[in-house]
Amino acid sequence: MLPSPLQEIRDERFARHGVRLQLKRDDLIHPALPGNKWRKLAPNLRAALEGGHTALLTFGGAYSNHLRATAAAGRLLGLTTIGVVRGDELAGKPLNSSLARCAADGMRLHFVSRADYRHRHERDFTERLLRGTGDHATAREAFRIPEGGSNALAVRGCTALGGELRGRTDVAAVACGTGGTLAGLAAGLGSGQSALGIPVLRGGFLTEDVRDLQRSAFGGRRGQWRLDERFHFGGYARGTPELEDFARDFAARHALPPLERVYVAKLLSGLTTLAEEGAFAPGSTVTAVVTGPR
Ligand SMILES: *Cc1c(COP(=O)(O)O)cnc(C)c1O
Repeated sequence: MLPSPLQEIRDERFARHGVRLQLKRDDLIHPALPGNKWRKLAPNLRAALEGGHTALLTFGGAYSNHLRATAAAGRLLGLTTIGVVRGDELAGKPLNSSLARCAADGMRLHFVSRADYRHRHERDFTERLLRGTGDHATAREAFRIPEGGSNALAVRGCTALGGELRGRTDVAAVACGTGGTLAGLAAGLGSGQSALGIPVLRGGFLTEDVRDLQRSAFGGRRGQWRLDERFHFGGYARGTPELEDFARDFAARHALPPLERVYVAKLLSGLTTLAEEGAFAPGSTVTAVVTGPR
């Protein structure tokens, strides 16, 4: 469903400061390829098909939403999918629910040690990894998508998210993993609008990554954007009891489905803190991009 719906949320923690809150419900875009993963994958899938590829090869952690979306896309389009998964301790064990979904969609999973996984950007990495397996020949011909799905095509795909919000908000906020969605969102907004990224990983490296992604997609910096690095809650897939309480309360207060915990709960918690700090001008509208479901 595109454009995805905009939903007004009446929350006193924002209203008290004269701020209007909206949710951009990208979680409703597609049942199998939710949220920003649809926006990022669609241009890559088009390029893969136009290039005559019959397989997709990509990378991710054991709970990667990107791996799951790629597996689902492969099933829907009749493309073979190969997933290189970080963590060789997972090999031979029962699959977690996320990887089980990948496997059910036909994705061929290969587990690699964390040390080896660091070399995933090297050209001959998968060549070496898959030598002697049944997937070696398929992988050589496959269309490759980087970890998290963020390449220039994906970033350009996310400009449509900004386009859908033109004239509808002052600030558009999104939770960041690789920063690809933020890079595209910022580029698609109109003048006078700005994008705010809330990184869910610790480390403080994301500003440079978003710059690099914008450079590769557009040749330089586009749009107004900034990061607030305070709301990672301990790091990727980590959390605190306070975050859990916030997420339950927010969903109950506004009759929403359960908030996705890795990204969306941190985004909404961060925005609520910012509103209470008076970070948004009275009379302004803030839109939180709901990038995914549970
Ligand atoms: C992947 C993902 C993100 C992060 O997107 P990036 O483009 O990597 O920053 C945010 N929210 C959800 C729900 C995701 O699955």
